Amino acid sequence: MKIAVLSQNPELYSTRRLVEAGEKRGHEMHVVDPLKCYMNITAHQPSIFYEGEKLQGFEAVIPRIGTSITFFGTAVLRQFEAMDVYSVNSSIAINRARDKLRSLQILARKGIPLPLTGFSHATESSKSLMDIIGGAPLVIKLIEGTQGRGVVLADTNEAAESVIDAFRSLRADLLVQKFVREGKGRDVRCFVVGGKVVAAMVRQAKDGDFRSNLHRGGTAFQAKISPEERSIAVNATQCMGLNKAGVDLLRSEQGPLVIEVNSSPGLEGIETVTKKDVSGSIIEFVEKNKDKKNRKGKSWG
Ligand code: ADP
Ligand code: MG
Repeated sequence: MKIAVLSQNPELYSTRRLVEAGEKRGHEMHVVDPLKCYMNITAHQPSIFYEGEKLQGFEAVIPRIGTSITFFGTAVLRQFEAMDVYSVNSSIAINRARDKLRSLQILARKGIPLPLTGFSHATESSKSLMDIIGGAPLVIKLIEGTQGRGVVLADTNEAAESVIDAFRSLRADLLVQKFVREGKGRDVRCFVVGGKVVAAMVRQAKDGDFRSNLHRGGTAFQAKISPEERSIAVNATQCMGLNKAGVDLLRSEQGPLVIEVNSSPGLEGIETVTKKDVSGSIIEFVEKNKDKKNRKGKSWG
């Protein structure tokens, strides 16, 4: 099978591993940089050109679109979908997952347990917003943030108010969330592929931080997850319409709470820590599902 890995950098661990896992199973793997694609948007013969040539014969695409290029990257993915090339995650599901507020609203509506979260736009409502959440300690998150950047812990209501006001003055949209102290700077990353948790790790924030992101200096070890955690991770992925996702859970007094569903979870941390062939699971999923065409009505819009 001819498979495209949509990625800006062939040297990245995740990209390299997907290529390696695909080749090991006898597939023809191509790394396609979405930013170098140009497209022909027509009704009858939609096409993508790349480095002077028309992309042809692809049966599947594995998107690894960086958050900084979501807009153009998902446009290229939509073009693959228009050409009836199977995508592991659809463009619409990726767009949905990239919006933290939209994601939480979808998950809440489907009954997935989440930390108490509030959202507002106007500065005048900062105080009332904090009251709804029950006051400090609060975690304030920029809607556009990733990898732990733009996630701040405020221990007091005064601190929370000044952080909210500072973000607002930058015209940034933000979420306010109850700080889950019992999480102790740890979360559980469940890597879901095709309705199964194929690997899971606990991530521990470095001393003095509460954010467990590996990009923020967190460390990780293999996780043993409960059946409840497993089913929440799988359900959250399905609610978002994703086939592949990294679901982050906090272990709270009220049970597992989902904080994030990541549509392009990195492979390096999870494969190194768990020694599981997650890339292989992704390729296997593609093999089994490539004939299920992306349903246009569902995956577009
Ligand atoms: P990002 O998209 O930047 O990774 P997250 O919402 O995943 O943002 O938050 C980053 C990290 O901060 C999480 O992995 C977790 O360790 C910690 N964190 C986030 N929200 C909370 C919360 N409500 N309570 C406790 N810790 C949190
Ligand atoms: Mg996160």
